Amino acid sequence: MHGDWVCGVYEYFKAIFLGIWSTLVGMRITMARFFDYVKDPLYQGVTVQYPTERWKVAEGYRGMLFNDIDDCIVCSQCANECPADCIIIDAEKAAKGEDLGKTSNGTPKKIKAWRFDIDLNHCLYCGLCTEVCPTECLIMTDAYDYATYSRDGLYLLFARPEKYTTAPAGASPAASPAPEAKPA
Ligand code: SF4
Ligand code: SF4
Repeated sequence: MHGDWVCGVYEYFKAIFLGIWSTLVGMRITMARFFDYVKDPLYQGVTVQYPTERWKVAEGYRGMLFNDIDDCIVCSQCANECPADCIIIDAEKAAKGEDLGKTSNGTPKKIKAWRFDIDLNHCLYCGLCTEVCPTECLIMTDAYDYATYSRDGLYLLFARPEKYTTAPAGASPAASPAPEAKPA
């Protein structure tokens, strides 16, 4: 009878001890991270203070598209390659004697872009358009945070028709204004 009582007390305190011990084991990593954070508030292993701090995305990340229109020769290869048809170009050959300038590598520009829009609402972020671009002016930036309250905010306009001296021949410039896209 006395032995059963001792066994009961032993099991009781053993269960309490195991409960505390398993809690401490479970909290070991949490506490280690907590003290890391206390020592260094900018400790990157815990979290980042988004949006003032941001992770650097991996090389090759496919973020928001950007076209450096000054280097674009308006060849339309990107639009032809796009599986989602989300690149819209209205192009026109330069008139005889009309000088459209050169790209940064000295290639003369012979085609005007009255319109060069990318509708990110339909973009698959496959990157095919950037791979075929002969001047590498179309790139995928590392921008990943471009949430917007309206779909218009994901409609990027890159053409600068005001640079051309002649009026568009039947081309229809984009109707709805949208913020000009910028690389990250
Ligand atoms: S990333 Fe793909 S879907 Fe998006 S515009 Fe380029 S080719 Fe089209
Ligand atoms: S493939 Fe490149 S150079 Fe050709 S139209 Fe597209 S962005 Fe411009």
